Amino acid sequence: MPRKSPRSRRREPEPRLPGKRRPRATPGRKPARPVTTRVPKAAHARRGARADELAARAAAVAGILERLYPDAATPLAHANALQLLVATILSAQCTDARVNLVTPELFARFPDAAALAGAGRAELEDLVRSTGFYRNKAKAIQACCAAIVADHGGAVPRTMEELVTLPGVGRKTANVVLGSAYGIPGIVVDTHVQRLAGRLGFTKERDPVRIEFALQPLVPEAKWSRFSLWLIFHGRRVCVARKPRCSICPLSPHCPRLGVSSAQ
Ligand code: SF4
Repeated sequence: MPRKSPRSRRREPEPRLPGKRRPRATPGRKPARPVTTRVPKAAHARRGARADELAARAAAVAGILERLYPDAATPLAHANALQLLVATILSAQCTDARVNLVTPELFARFPDAAALAGAGRAELEDLVRSTGFYRNKAKAIQACCAAIVADHGGAVPRTMEELVTLPGVGRKTANVVLGSAYGIPGIVVDTHVQRLAGRLGFTKERDPVRIEFALQPLVPEAKWSRFSLWLIFHGRRVCVARKPRCSICPLSPHCPRLGVSSAQ
């Protein structure tokens, strides 16, 4: 009979029984202090100071942006909430200027949600083709309009809760419609707002919804929609994705330029 190696003769560990406590690894040592959620006073004070500093910087930034872009408004041409909703769907991966070239004919041909929902798919695709991803966009517009007709009597709803139930409508699109068509404050987080919020040190979040919630306490609610429009305008003109123009940026004294490795 072959001899067992010393390793194989080692005792198997005792199986752990449910409810049986594992003996302490170092008998005699004091048990660890229970975890407490209390924040030490100094840390609490530091957090408060940081929040104050952030709020002061955000107020300064908002003030400068307001003076820079006093007439900021959505560049998407529209006459009502439905047109803005459709134009916003079309603006995905496309310039606003291109969308504005397409929508006059689209809205003249299909003036309301029922008409858009019942449009021939091929004709609709043809009308929006130049905005890119035209098959998906035509499908999304028709699904969204069908839901508006079926569930909201043909009128675009006025609340975030209802808007985000529409097919293809997320918080960004909903905030565009709420802010620019209905005058209900909302922070639109697009790629520019995402980038500027990070560079300005307003939040480390990367998810658009988390960024939206992080920005909300930094500016008065009445300014939410305009604040995001100001950031979008500034992101297009000065704080561009590659090589931001920090040397001519009026926000420079208030900006930590987080993540900026090369600037103009
Ligand atoms: S200073 Fe530079 S990084 Fe900061 S907002 Fe201006 S352009 Fe952007």
